[in-house]
Amino acid sequence: MILDVGEKAQDSDVRHFRCIGIGAGPANLSLASLLHGHTELTNCFVERRHTFAWHDGQQMPGASLQVSMLKDLVTLSDPTNPFSFLSYLHAHGRLYHFINAQFDAVPRQEFRNYMEWATRRNQNIVFGEEVLAVDFDDTFIVRTTNGTLRADNIAVGVGTETWVPQHARDALGAHQFHVSDFLHKAASLGGQRVAVVGGGQSGAEAFLDLISRSGTELPRRVSWISRRPNFLPIDDSPFTNDYYMPSFSDYFYRLERTTRESFTRRHILTSDGISEQTLRDIYQRAYMHRFVHGAVDLFAFHPNREVLQVTGDETTGWKLTLAHNDLTGISEDLDVDVIIWATGFRPARMDFLAPLAHRLDREGDEYRVDESFAVMWDGPTDRNIFVQNGARLQRGLADPNLSLVAWRAQRIVDRLRGVSNENHTPSFIEWSAKQVVAP
Ligand SMILES: Cc1cc2nc3c(=O)[nH]c(=O)nc-3n(C[C@H](O)[C@H](O)[C@H](O)COP(=O)(O)OP(=O)(O)OC[C@H]3O[C@@H](n4cnc5c(N)ncnc54)[C@H](O)[C@@H]3O)c2cc1C
Repeated sequence: MILDVGEKAQDSDVRHFRCIGIGAGPANLSLASLLHGHTELTNCFVERRHTFAWHDGQQMPGASLQVSMLKDLVTLSDPTNPFSFLSYLHAHGRLYHFINAQFDAVPRQEFRNYMEWATRRNQNIVFGEEVLAVDFDDTFIVRTTNGTLRADNIAVGVGTETWVPQHARDALGAHQFHVSDFLHKAASLGGQRVAVVGGGQSGAEAFLDLISRSGTELPRRVSWISRRPNFLPIDDSPFTNDYYMPSFSDYFYRLERTTRESFTRRHILTSDGISEQTLRDIYQRAYMHRFVHGAVDLFAFHPNREVLQVTGDETTGWKLTLAHNDLTGISEDLDVDVIIWATGFRPARMDFLAPLAHRLDREGDEYRVDESFAVMWDGPTDRNIFVQNGARLQRGLADPNLSLVAWRAQRIVDRLRGVSNENHTPSFIEWSAKQVVAP
């Protein structure tokens, strides 16, 4: 481990930091980047992976970022910060080329490479070290696979983990797998019958990739199944994007829990819908296959269905039983060789907090956070456990997304520094009601 300037040893060989980050995905990378210039705030970010990765199993050719390139690690809170996407392009001498390329959206692989570059420029990020447990006496004691560290503050940024239905869990392997393994496991599906289950962006990209193959690499049939009533687009329109602004996040945070839950259900497509470009590509590909190339049986679309069960095995193939959401009592069977579960991600478990769990406030499945994303607890107020991307029901649909990473991380930095630098232009929309003061 390379140490930051100002690091001090408290015990003979236990290193002590003002802030230790757990995980180095975009959320904590943003914090690490914003902290980098503050040498008085000694920090260390511990990442269990041996090298940087960002959804590497889903870097399908043509996949692109679903948000503006300005929603990088730092720009929205500190546009002159050296860890910006523009700095990355400049450092690699490709600013002009990037402009000339006229991408509609930044290629996902390029944004991933940018973040990897940010980790290489930051000596406070340590790879190949997993946090196992966090305890507290007068500071946090962080036990990792490499030893023990101490910190005044912790920033948890462990992201999400894959989710598949219960009945699929024991069958996962080469013939049933989560879409996060797509690049590793879906390379050779030529001539096979494949089912993609899940009607979000990940399912759409998997389906598009499979029906875009040619010659012997083309599957025999690709069926796309979704619980949603149709293959629905992401709402990326201007007023909807207000939900992804700091002012809305603060407004949302102050709402009643039941109102927040209902809002999240109603507006899920603002984050989990499919980009229009992907939908267009799929539809056009389908048209070409069916009407121009005469491949009448290559694909099947099955929205509005729930997978009830899967039977079979790797040798004979799988039978999916589907229930139709509108037609009660009717089920359909689908025979396939391979199932790709694009059934999403859930917040990653934070088992390492178990020693402190009884001291931390909760709201449902989440730790209850304050306005600076610090978990409310019975410990000293100058000792904080910040949680990034772990409070969607408290902070809104933007919480797991890239939109607010720089703003959220800046709030954490400000809290650590004991300052408040927020100067955001308010929304056009009056989200809250103006209270009438009684005469
Ligand atoms: C394919 C895909 C594309 C996406 N594209 C977009 C997009 O275009 N725009 C957008 O806004 N959002 C997008 N998202 C949402 C995405 O989840 C977030 O952008 C982002 O990855 C969340 O960052 P994070 O840092 O919270 O979590 P992660 O990226 O999941 O990072 C968490 C890190 O913590 C590490 N970790 C976990 N436990 C420990 C431990 N105990 N000790 C040490 N390290 C640990 C993990 O190894 C991991 O590296 C996409 C999601 C997917 C799946």
